[in-house]
Formats: sequence, C-alpha cells, structure tokens
Amino acid sequence: MNKQSFCIANWKMNKDYNESKEFLNQINKKDLSVSNSNIIICPSFISLSLASNKNRNISFGSQNVSSGTSKSQTGEISVEMLESVFCDWVIIGHSERRNILNETNEDISKKMELVYNSKLKPILCIGESLEEKNNNQTENVLVNQIKSSFSRIDFSKDKDILIAYEPIWAIGTGIAAEINIIDENMKLIKKIINNISTNNCNIYLLYGGSVNEYNASEIFNLSEINGFLIGGASLEVDSLYSIYKQI
Ligand code: PEP
Repeated sequence: MNKQSFCIANWKMNKDYNESKEFLNQINKKDLSVSNSNIIICPSFISLSLASNKNRNISFGSQNVSSGTSKSQTGEISVEMLESVFCDWVIIGHSERRNILNETNEDISKKMELVYNSKLKPILCIGESLEEKNNNQTENVLVNQIKSSFSRIDFSKDKDILIAYEPIWAIGTGIAAEINIIDENMKLIKKIINNISTNNCNIYLLYGGSVNEYNASEIFNLSEINGFLIGGASLEVDSLYSIYKQI
C-alpha cells in the first residue's frame, strides 16, 4: 500500500511515566522499517517529556493544548511548551474533551489557529453522536465542526492537517462503525473540505472508533482513509504494532 499513512496512539489518561517509558522501549525493539506508516504516540503531558528525536520512526503528539496565550492560566500547557519537548502534533477537539470537559467549537477554532501558526500540526477530531446520527444530523454536524474549526485559519502556509472522523457512538465500544458508513462519511468530509480553500495544506483523513488489529486492514482499504486514531488498541505494543504493519 503506497498511500501516506498515520498510526496514532491516543493513550488518554492511561499509562504513568514508567509505563510510557516501558512501552517506548518495547516498541523501539520492533522492526519499524516494515511499514511507511507514521507512528504518532500521544501520551499524557508528563510522559510527553519522553519524546525525543532519538525515536526516529516515532513522533509524538499532545492530547490537548491551551486555547489562550496568557501566562495566567493555571494548569494549562502552551504551544511553545509543547514545541520545546519534540512534540510535533496536537489532538484538538476530541469528543471526550467536547462532551466531558465542555470544550466548544469556539475553543477548538482558537486551538486550531494557535497550532496552525506554530511548528506543531493539528489532529482535528470530528464526529456525530448517536442521537445526531439517528436524527439524520451527521452532515450538519460535520459541516459545522469543520467550518468552525477552520474559521480562524488563513491557510497562508503549507501544513499537514489530520482530520480524524470519530463517530462518538463507535468510540470505546469494541465495535467500529460499519464499513459503508465510514466510507460514506469520509467521502462527505472530503466533499466539505474540497469546498474550502485550503491552498497548499495537505489534509489527510483518518478514522477512529474501535479500530483494532482485526478490522484495520479492511477500513484502511477505503479510498479516503490515510490512517487511524486509536484508543484502546494502542495501549498494547503488539496490537498497535500489528495495526501499524497493516497500513
Ligand atoms: C478515541 O478515543 O479516540 C478512540 C478512537 O478510542 P477507541 O479506539 O478505544 O475506540
């Protein structure tokens, strides 16, 4: 398979510093030349300090970044702080942050702007809830999420932008969305993006939601898919490595 691909581990609030270090030791013992896929590990902030340019086949992403630039924000982490620890990517707008931590489209658009204007690259998460799906709101939700996330970006410079389509109803359930639904919604997202002037930005589409070593290959074969954002199956070295080898 020759298409550009991304294998992204979203560890959420799993793995302390020592467990993260051990995972990196183990995955670095694997043959990371068997696939051209880019492995991106997104650990907790404390383990992000393990990121280094020594892991040549692995890059690192943060699970969040502050939407503001004021230093008076106790507990927040800035774009500059992430840049200082060999972090290349930032997950923005994960549904858990939108729903549990009340992150708004406005917050997400500010984060997208800050990251776009930095050396970091965004992994934007979008996706509808089960209720929205059942009410035939998927298209509206995706259009709104994409347009508002991009609303502050002027697209004046080249940048890789990853968009992870993560139907909320498939996350953490062990059952990925049906292949025809993924295909249909990826094509819809492509169409929405094609109507926005993104100039020379490279926009790649990912799927997330119960991806594992058994369904990865079939989903990756879909025409618009360039990889995965993986939660549960990214916590074990062997399952992440198996997905990586297949894409
Ligand atoms: C996620 O939370 O981004 C995710 C895709 O989780 P899981 O793979 O466990 O469904």
